[in-house]
Order: sequence, then structure tokens, then C-alpha cells
Amino acid sequence: MSFEDIKTIYCVGRNYAKHAKELGNEIPSEPLIFLKSVASLRGLAASQIAFEDESFHHEVEVVLLIGKDLKLGDKVSNSDIQSIALGLDLTRRGVQSELKGKGSPWTTSKSFLGSALLGELRDPADYLIRESLVFELKVNGQLRQSGDTQDMLFSFMEICNYLNFFSPLKKGDLIYTGTPEGVGPFKKGDSFEMCFQGIGSVESGEL
Ligand code: ZN
Repeated sequence: MSFEDIKTIYCVGRNYAKHAKELGNEIPSEPLIFLKSVASLRGLAASQIAFEDESFHHEVEVVLLIGKDLKLGDKVSNSDIQSIALGLDLTRRGVQSELKGKGSPWTTSKSFLGSALLGELRDPADYLIRESLVFELKVNGQLRQSGDTQDMLFSFMEICNYLNFFSPLKKGDLIYTGTPEGVGPFKKGDSFEMCFQGIGSVESGEL
């Protein structure tokens, strides 16, 4: 799977109650979905990013890669997930707040070259059977975010089934499943480490 094979990048907003609260947002009653362009994708190594002089916010998230073309309304199951990964949803928070204030779409705060960082694609078998997956992000050696998928308002399958009810999932779709609390500043040159606690390897990279 290379970045060229990725189709749609779905993202879930406010899927962890404490993160919704830290930004002063209400807790949603159904998944809050937004999109990023495929041009947003990047790997772990330092690479070009649009708006490179700005300070972004990091949002570490568990990312799912869909492995099968589904039909509208099909029930999605764990076997339709090809890979699981950690990723960073980079956000221009000030721009997002302005756009939100105007009631406008957030697109330019979320979808830009380099804004969807994707880590190593892992075999999901050992991950999806666990009720709790604890994942962490360190920036410049300091722990910034630690989340537990048990705290998600909507589970992986609830998100997939929600999407598949109106927009059939395709092989090559990515789903960023939301960030826990602790989002904060992140700029060009910062180094980071992401890991699932107690399972798999630690991944490091540089913005
Ligand atoms: Zn996010």
C-alpha cells in the first residue's frame, strides 16, 4: 500500500470527551466527520508542509485502513480493516477557530500538504481484539498526549458503520478516529515519538 492507493481520508472530530471540552466544544451525539485531501498525506520523515512558518496543533490518533470495497449499508466488521496505524492530524487551530466562528467549513485549517501524517501500517489482528488500546505522543522528548480507545465516544465499528450508511467505504480509505486531550503546539523541526503502549514498536519522526 502506497500513498497513491489511498482514496478518501475521513477524520472524526471530538471523539474523546476530554478533548472536546479542552477546546470548549459540545459532546456530539453522532460522529462528527470531516475530510482531508490525499495531498495531505505524509510519512514520519521530515518533509515539506504547507504553511511551514506557522505553529500547528498535533492531534495523535489511531488510524484505520479499509481493505475492502463495501456496499451502502453493509455491516462493517473487523475483517474489513486491512491495517491499523498511528497518525497525526495537524491543525491550524487559530484558522479553525476563526472559520468555526463564521460558521464556515474548516477545510483550510485541516486539509493541506503534509497535514495527515501516517505512521507504520500494522497488521490489525492483535490490536482490534483489545478493548483498550493505549497510545501516546511525545514531542521533543516530552509526553504530550496519552489516550485510551476505551474512552472513545464512538468505537471503530460505530464510526465505520456510520460512514458506510451514507458513503460506502472503499479499499484504500483511511479513517482518523479522533484525538484525546493534550493537543498543543507543533512546528517545523520538532521531533516526535508515537507508540501503542505495550504492543508493537515505537515510531519516531520529525515535522
Ligand atoms: Zn483530529
